[in-house]
Amino acid sequence: MQRVLVVEDSKVVQQVLRHLTAQYLDVAIDFAWSLAECATYVEKYDYTLALVDLTLPDAPHGEVAKYTLSKKIPTVVLTSKIDEYKRQQMLELGVVDYVIKDNRDSYHYAVKLVAQLLRNQGCKALVADDSLLSRSLMKQMLEKQLFDVTDAHDGQQALEILKANPDIKLLMTDYAMPSMDGFELVKAVRNFRGRDDLAIIGLSGAGKHGLSARFIKYGANDFLTKPFMNEEFHCRVLQTMEQLSLISDIKESAHRDHLTGLHNRRYFYQYAEKLLKSKNQKNTLALLDIDFFKNINDTLGHEGGDQALKQVGSLIRTTFSKFTVARVGGEEFAIILPEIELERGREYFEAFRKKLASYDFSISDKSIKITTSIGLADFQDTSLTQAMRVADKALYEAKNQGRNCVV
Ligand code: GH3
Ligand code: MG
Ligand code: MG
Repeated sequence: MQRVLVVEDSKVVQQVLRHLTAQYLDVAIDFAWSLAECATYVEKYDYTLALVDLTLPDAPHGEVAKYTLSKKIPTVVLTSKIDEYKRQQMLELGVVDYVIKDNRDSYHYAVKLVAQLLRNQGCKALVADDSLLSRSLMKQMLEKQLFDVTDAHDGQQALEILKANPDIKLLMTDYAMPSMDGFELVKAVRNFRGRDDLAIIGLSGAGKHGLSARFIKYGANDFLTKPFMNEEFHCRVLQTMEQLSLISDIKESAHRDHLTGLHNRRYFYQYAEKLLKSKNQKNTLALLDIDFFKNINDTLGHEGGDQALKQVGSLIRTTFSKFTVARVGGEEFAIILPEIELERGREYFEAFRKKLASYDFSISDKSIKITTSIGLADFQDTSLTQAMRVADKALYEAKNQGRNCVV
């Protein structure tokens, strides 16, 4: 579990940070008022990251940052003023970044920065540059942002590494490289990795007019002109990665049902189509419908009905955690068991039907029983729509047979 330490002596600022971290961070957070308190926390826990104020009553000259850095904790600094001298000093110390506290938005920026750094942890990045010096400098800077960094000395090598590592999320590439230049690399990579899936930042020397725009046209997400300042580098990378994770959040929520967190109907159909294309195999399709659900709504209210849907959804999700489960209608769920024939599929669902029927659901402080009727169908060489029709017929039959059964 990731853990963040915030050190700040102003009551107001700490309050703002508490509020913002609760909103944006899903990790354990400790708040300290002083260097002394910070030290007791550091003795006790391992921290992924520290966000520290530069001036504290018991540490007026940035001693907290020195301390957390000496404990190998990546550190972001909050400071009220910044001059060139102080800036240099901090960067030499090795802080990840600094945030100037001059308005409410700075705290917002600081917390979003921390959130992105936490997301970067363990995320793979690749640096492609033929200059050893510039390559190792960028590697170092990305490592400071918690990336797991690999490097390549030209475009050809970078391409091979990207093909072998589909989990790389960021590519920083120079323009001028032997064997394959930055443009060729970006063009080649975009054939198999989209903009939303791999972030690319192109680098070009100053005075090479138009190179940066061409990088974007070939498919890079952003560019940097060399030489760049430390902060410029950090901002570009952070912003690009933030965009990538926003897009992935949006995509994810478009595929999910709000109430239960299960996949939605649209995703389920997409998934089924892909499944059919990938292999010609025997799969089982199941359609589950809660019995007498209207009664739950009538006796416990719509709110209670929602609770019931959530709880049934979560039971289905944990039971079929290896499979794709969707809420396809009001109180209807669908599941595909790939490479499992109907007869074996039936055993899975018979077991689930029993499990659900014996479960005590607790809704609005009342203990209730819920049962489901389940219709099964073969899903192999027909379309999902067709297989759904068959499963729906079977489900109708299950209702006719008295409910709480599998047909
Ligand atoms: P059967 O055993 O035949 O399936 O009876 P049933 O009452 O479960 O089925 P019916 O289709 O008659 O009623 C389903 C009800 O589910 C009607 C609808 O108001 C309710 N419903 C649909 N979506 C939601 C939802 O998101 N929340 C709540 N609380 N109720 C919902
Ligand atoms: Mg029903
Ligand atoms: Mg229904």
